[in-house]
Amino acid sequence: MSKRNIVYLDNNSTTELSHEVSGVLMDIVIHSVYGNPSSKHSFGLKMRAIVEASRYSVAKSLGCGPGEIYFTSGGTEANNMAIRGVYNIYSDQENEAVMSIAEHSSVYNTMLSVVQDSKVRQIPLLSDGSLDLEWADRLITEDTTLVSVMLANNETGNIYPVKEIVRIAHERGALVHCDAVQAYGKMPINVRDLGVDILTISGHKAHALPGIGALYVRKGVQVHPISTGGNQEMGMRPGTENYIAIATLGTVAEEIYNRESLPSPGLRDVFERGLLRQIPDIFINGAGADRIYNTSSVTFRGIDASQMVEALSDNGIFASTGPACSAGLKRTSRTLESMGLSEDEVLSTVRFSFSQFSSISDVVTAIEGCARCAKVLRGQSPE
Ligand code: PLP
Repeated sequence: MSKRNIVYLDNNSTTELSHEVSGVLMDIVIHSVYGNPSSKHSFGLKMRAIVEASRYSVAKSLGCGPGEIYFTSGGTEANNMAIRGVYNIYSDQENEAVMSIAEHSSVYNTMLSVVQDSKVRQIPLLSDGSLDLEWADRLITEDTTLVSVMLANNETGNIYPVKEIVRIAHERGALVHCDAVQAYGKMPINVRDLGVDILTISGHKAHALPGIGALYVRKGVQVHPISTGGNQEMGMRPGTENYIAIATLGTVAEEIYNRESLPSPGLRDVFERGLLRQIPDIFINGAGADRIYNTSSVTFRGIDASQMVEALSDNGIFASTGPACSAGLKRTSRTLESMGLSEDEVLSTVRFSFSQFSSISDVVTAIEGCARCAKVLRGQSPE
C-alpha cells in the first residue's frame, strides 16, 4: 500500500514531521552540521546558538522566559523530572499528592512510585469525560504538595480546567504541574495565563522529532534535578544536548507562535456525524464536553477494538485502541472506566486522532472504511 493511500489518524501516538522540520533536518544532513554545544570552537558555538534560539522559540510559544525552559528527552522524562524533582525536596515529609485519574502513565505511575499510595488522591471524571471539579476541591487540601492535571486527555481529547485547578491548589499552598503533551500546538497555551508552576510538552506529538521534550518551571519554583552529571540545561538535565532534535522542536515552536489561527474541530465533527449516521450502535466518548479539535474516541458496541484497528489498517486507515505505551499490556483505560464505560465498552473503543495535515478526503475515506469494517466484524454483508 503506497503511503499516499494511507489515512493516518493516529496523531496522538505520534505525528508526521512538518515540512519545515524536514527542511531543517535535510540542511543538517547536507551540510554535515555538528558540534558539542559546550565546545568553544565555531562548530560548538553554532550548536549553542541553535539550542538557545530553540529555547527562545519554545518559551515564546508558551508565553514564558527562556530561562524557564529545560530541554528533556521527551514528555516521559519531563513528567518524571517534575514529580520526582518536587518530591526530592520534600522527601522527609509526609506529603500528599493529587492527580486526575486519567493522567498518562508517565505521570500516574511516577506519582505512585514516589508518593505513598495512601497519600495519592485521584480526581475522578464525569460521564462526559470532564474533570470532576467538586472532587478536586475536596481532595486538594493544605496537606497537598503537588497537583498534576493534564491539559488535554490523550484518549478522549477532553480539555481539563487547569486554570481552576491552579486557583484551588494555590489557595491551599500546593504546586501545580500540567502535562500539556497532547495540547501543545492544538490549542493556545500560555503558562502565565494558566498559572501553572511546571508544564510538560513533547516534540513528536507536534510534528517535531521524537526523543525531545521540554519542561517549563516557573522562575522561583524549586525543582531538584533527578540526574547528576554536567551542568547542561542549567544543571537540571545533565548530558550533551540533543541539538538536532532541539532544532526541530524550536522549528515547530516558532510555527506555533506565529500561527494566526488554530485548526477548527470541523473535521472531527464531520467525522463523528458521519459515523453516527452510517453505523448503528456506536457512541462518541466525551461528546458535548470541551474537547481538543483532533480526537475522537468511538465505542463500537459488540466489536473488538483490536480487530477493528486491524481491519481498518488493512484498508489503509491507521487508528489505535489507546495509548501507544500500553500496547501489549491487557487493555484497560482509567479514563474510560472513570467515565462509566463497562469493560466490554472499553474493549470496543477505538481512538482516531487527526492532525493539522488531515483533509476532508481523509475523513470521508475513514467514515466509509469504518462503516465497511464494522459491518464485516458484526457478521453483516458489507454490500
Ligand atoms: N503525556 C501524554 C498525555 C502523552 O500522551 C504522552 C505520550 O503518549 C506522554 C506524556 C509521553 O510523551 P513521550 O512519548 O514524549 O515520552
